[in-house]
Amino acid sequence: MQVNDDQNAVDLLGVGVGPFNLSLAALLAPLPAITSCFFDRNPSFVWHSGLLLPEAEIQVSYLKDLVTLVDPANPFSFIAYLAKHKRLYRFMNARFHQVLRTEFNQYLNWVSRSLANLNFDEEVESIHFEQSSFVARTSKRKIRTKHLVLGSGLSPSIPECARLKTGNNIFHGKDYLSHSHRCRGRRVVVIGGGQSGADIVNHLLSDSGALPSELVWATKRAIFSPIDESVFANEYFTPVYNDYFFSLSSGKKSRLLQEQVLASDGISAHLLESIYRKLYFYEFIENMPRFFRFIGNHELTSLSRSGNSVEIGLRICDTIEQRHYAADVVILCTGYHWQMPAYLEGLRDRIPLENGHFCVRKDYSIHWYGPSQNQIYVQNAARHSHGIADPNLSLMAWRSARIINSLAQKTVYDIDNESTVMEWEGFSGYQNEERQYA
Ligand SMILES: Cc1cc2nc3c(=O)[nH]c(=O)nc-3n(C[C@H](O)[C@H](O)[C@H](O)COP(=O)(O)OP(=O)(O)OC[C@H]3O[C@@H](n4cnc5c(N)ncnc54)[C@H](O)[C@@H]3O)c2cc1C
Repeated sequence: MQVNDDQNAVDLLGVGVGPFNLSLAALLAPLPAITSCFFDRNPSFVWHSGLLLPEAEIQVSYLKDLVTLVDPANPFSFIAYLAKHKRLYRFMNARFHQVLRTEFNQYLNWVSRSLANLNFDEEVESIHFEQSSFVARTSKRKIRTKHLVLGSGLSPSIPECARLKTGNNIFHGKDYLSHSHRCRGRRVVVIGGGQSGADIVNHLLSDSGALPSELVWATKRAIFSPIDESVFANEYFTPVYNDYFFSLSSGKKSRLLQEQVLASDGISAHLLESIYRKLYFYEFIENMPRFFRFIGNHELTSLSRSGNSVEIGLRICDTIEQRHYAADVVILCTGYHWQMPAYLEGLRDRIPLENGHFCVRKDYSIHWYGPSQNQIYVQNAARHSHGIADPNLSLMAWRSARIINSLAQKTVYDIDNESTVMEWEGFSGYQNEERQYA
């Protein structure tokens, strides 16, 4: 195993090739002066493979692709992908409500195959700092780099009572497709009222010949709540709001994150309608006996195996009252959370955390005890500091551009002064009179 010498060190090494580092790689492509390489442990690019369900749609506009919002003429836009594959007219005429996740995955995969500096099937195992560079050890080599960008994603959240019990009939939603065949004709419980839970319930209801014998869907919220995609709520997903949010105190940030949760974690209204109509169809058109129970205000509190069956306990929120259900399959659509990646163990003492999170600067570099000419940038690890848009695709291209401008120490991409309607205590996208009449 060889270490590249300092002359050959790259400027930037990226851990993980999910959409966020893929966006960065695509926007770096026209900038050969910044050398970079990216590593992913998967054999090829895939976007959450266990949830690539046939009807699932992305929750944002396709203009929020890897590049368009900062560089509309970039050859790696979603529109460029359609044009390259000669399906622009067909796409337009198909009038999709939103782009299918499977198609967006194909687009992302196409970009990943078009970039030379992405390495798949290669896990980053450890990183340490030596003299004036980071040294990353992958499953295939060692490589030096001036800067790092961490894009290794979030980890699935498993409720305490389900830990150590996951397997073929109790699993996180991220693994749904490899287990979905187990649900046919069985008693299925889906825990969690977000978009993934809804996508899975919609899929379970899609084939009248393969329905579960019983379907329980439970959420802690009062109802299965729609995402707030209204015009003003969408201003939370703008660069100006991101900068405003960054300027606030941590107390105010926590309150706002709570308040805005449905702008990012709600379910697409279109998907809720699809589920509701399927239930109507089975009950009133097919005259089937009711096989589903949709339950609000309940939280999973216990889970135990009994032979091939699983006993689950759901507590009515804010009470001590429990209800028990028997299931054959339990699907935990209980979200994702950030955790310190294991490959950073060698730098752990040099990276201070605040309330368990990185201390992230405005340019997405984090505080670390090391030379200031070596930066560690983070993708999808700054919701606490930069706001609810952080794990979302909306500001992906803009964040990549901000990281590139910071790396280059100049404005490579002009990303300032976008217009917004709202004004937030000194932050406003309203420019000046000259612009008004320009
Ligand atoms: C099912 C699903 C659907 C979503 N749909 C939307 C949507 O429609 N709109 C929206 O705005 N947001 C959506 N999101 C949220 C967000 O856009 C995605 O989670 C997105 O994939 C996050 O990108 P990422 O690059 O941070 O991480 P990931 O996509 O998780 O990618 C991380 C990559 O890092 C790799 N990796 C991890 N550790 C290592 C290592 N040590 N070495 C090498 N490689 C490593 C992994 O293999 C993985 O490929 C969705 C999330 C999920 C789960």
